[in-house]
Amino acid sequence: MILPIIKYGHPVLRAKGKWIKEADDRIRTLAADMLETMHAANGIGLAAQQVGAALQLTVLDISQVEGRPSSLILNGVDVDPASAMPLVLLNPRLEMEEEIETESEGCLSFPEINGDIDRAIAVTVEAETLEGEAVFIEAEGLLARALQHEIDHLNGILFIDRMSSAEKASLSSRLKRLQKETMRGVK
Ligand code: ZN
Repeated sequence: MILPIIKYGHPVLRAKGKWIKEADDRIRTLAADMLETMHAANGIGLAAQQVGAALQLTVLDISQVEGRPSSLILNGVDVDPASAMPLVLLNPRLEMEEEIETESEGCLSFPEINGDIDRAIAVTVEAETLEGEAVFIEAEGLLARALQHEIDHLNGILFIDRMSSAEKASLSSRLKRLQKETMRGVK
């Protein structure tokens, strides 16, 4: 089922996601709906907060993106990142390497808004799968960026929080408008 995507201005986007002790039917259904919702919106990642659930759950799929490469070592094995997609991650714990790069980023909760964001080039993520198995990810490039963006969401952090103050200032009227539109829908 395709779910409505929560837009900027809704308080759930600022909520820290609850730890998931065990993936029950509710979590499995939510994850399947999140994948369907993300794919329908042509997104590369979606966090549970973006469909109104403050949980440590995110889905990612970078397989359709061209021109922005990724690399992935999954549980110690070098794999074609596209072949490992989509990813469904529960309770992800992120470690970032020091080296930073600046690239353009968007977010399904901020339609038509993009900004340059500094992110670590390489990350490691420990998480659990829907089957309850531990997964260890070493990622670089676009996948590393997407993981940082989504895990930020799970902690109530949005990409605008990572923008330079100049960039955020240049977007301020559009952000205010979006916030107002969203609040009208919430009431
Ligand atoms: Zn986002």
